[in-house]
Amino acid sequence: MCGIVGYLGDQQAAGILVEGLSQLEYRGYDSAGIAVLSPSGVKVVRTVGRVRDLQAALPKRLGGKVGIGHTRWATHGPATEPNAHPQASQDGRIQVVHNGILDNAAALRESLTTAGVTLSSDTDTEVLAHLIARSPAKTLEDKVIEALSHVTGTYAIAVLSADHPDRVVVARNGSPLVLGIGEREMFIGSDVAALVRHTSQVVHLDDGEFATVTRDGFKTFTADSIETGKTPEQIEMTAEELQLAGHSHYMYKEILEQPSSVERMLRGRLDERFATARLDGLQLDPRELRGIRRVKVLGCGSAFYSGQLGAALIEQLARVPADAEAASEFRYRNPIIEPDTLYVAVSQSGETADTLFAVREIQRKGGRVVGLVNVVGSSIARQCDGGIYLHAGPEISVASTKALTHMSLGFALLALALGRVRDLSFTDGLRIINGLKRIPDQISEIIDSEPHITTVAKGLAGAESLFFVGRVHGFPVAREGAQKFKEISYRHAEAYQTSELKHGPLALISETLPTVAVIPDDELLQRNIGAAHEITARRGPLVVITHAGVDLGNLDAERIDVPKNEPELDPILLTIPTQLLAYHAALELGHDIDRPRNLAKSVTVE
Ligand code: GLU
Repeated sequence: MCGIVGYLGDQQAAGILVEGLSQLEYRGYDSAGIAVLSPSGVKVVRTVGRVRDLQAALPKRLGGKVGIGHTRWATHGPATEPNAHPQASQDGRIQVVHNGILDNAAALRESLTTAGVTLSSDTDTEVLAHLIARSPAKTLEDKVIEALSHVTGTYAIAVLSADHPDRVVVARNGSPLVLGIGEREMFIGSDVAALVRHTSQVVHLDDGEFATVTRDGFKTFTADSIETGKTPEQIEMTAEELQLAGHSHYMYKEILEQPSSVERMLRGRLDERFATARLDGLQLDPRELRGIRRVKVLGCGSAFYSGQLGAALIEQLARVPADAEAASEFRYRNPIIEPDTLYVAVSQSGETADTLFAVREIQRKGGRVVGLVNVVGSSIARQCDGGIYLHAGPEISVASTKALTHMSLGFALLALALGRVRDLSFTDGLRIINGLKRIPDQISEIIDSEPHITTVAKGLAGAESLFFVGRVHGFPVAREGAQKFKEISYRHAEAYQTSELKHGPLALISETLPTVAVIPDDELLQRNIGAAHEITARRGPLVVITHAGVDLGNLDAERIDVPKNEPELDPILLTIPTQLLAYHAALELGHDIDRPRNLAKSVTVE
């Protein structure tokens, strides 16, 4: 969600800032802006809309080698130019970009107004610019520390001051911020994607940390001005991974990447000698694994649905009670934290604020949390007591596909490891390992049936409203299918348990409301086919995602066949066609697939 960039060095800052912002576009935003320290003073350009609009609005000559930039995802006040960042002090000498939300902004605005300050935006951020400018402290660092001491809420900020032209001061509390180290130049980003073209040496700031950044380096410190002495880390992501590589959309590229990304993720993690999974990052020895009596998965949106799929896998393979809950709800209901429960936090970005806060709440109460996270070095990854990196590679599309598949596989590995210290036999462990090894080729097989799935998707695109239904292990598949569909097609897509249809939703079935039914080849097959007949009997158009070879009898439905794996792993594969269904429906409708309206990639605000 939203983005921050910064540059200090020998090159012209404006171009680098705009290019960095374009790398952060995928996170979702509604306006953008930069501030550059030019020889004639601070120059600010802000626009509503896309980074390319900002680029077009830049004056021909915008010299200056120090600057900050921002893409805003409005929380306080609409997306207008005055509300875009940077936000400035009254004399314009202090410029601030901010990601996050200041909780006490209203009170601070009021006291600033009483003190005679004229506020020129609706944002919470603007108060920071005024507080810094009005701070009695001497140095820019101390002014920032002092200003932030009045503030509650979450932030990552970068502060530029015309009076301190050699530096940018940054601070972080609850929103990510990374420094990139170059050769006599320094970069600032809310996400490594903004830096990866320039450097592979980065420093992740921690919550409560500040940094002074000059073109020659950086110094990190706490609010008590105690240096924290951070050493840079090497990042693995490359600039090439962030390119479209000839594809029209990131979402499509990421769907196609799955066979190879899954193979890479599993490599080295399958231990055939002991028929288990090798998960050193969990930091749990067999005795500790054995002591786990319950598993609680926490995630938001699709990660939550993947958590439901994962909890089912854990119950099946390890026979440990497991369930998933929306992290966004969990922390507010004063949850009971048990010492022998393993809490699992799932997040692609590792920055999902709701999930991060849930992790902290659990840890505060003495619980143990492991993370299933894609972005290495992200806040959740670092906050957790151990975890499994998803290794899906960068995911740019807002609508998640490959990261979700990797989450489900992460759960399969966890379930296998938990199962094998309990009652899962060697033979069954090996059966699962062999099933996992077949998944990359089977995903390729599903992708090969894309022309047929495209035709089906075009048929669905015309409907205003759709149902996705599935039972037991098919239900998380239906939920994720509906979620993906609504995210990018903007159609009303609702998921139900197939078994619940006749308890209410069947009333809505008609020829204008299609249903996508997940009907795996399992013990519920005949019941599912029965329910499907109830839909077609009411003239509801029907698409069935099922296994090759399943006899649907005379059911009047379009079918999409998926290769069969082990029953426990089947839901992972059954989800893949729903990605292509959503993609091709949205394509048919002409939507901006990689940047769906109102959504952001990593939801770093609550
Ligand atoms: N709360 C700030 C605003 O509404 C920043 C939002 C963001 O993170 O982009 O301007």
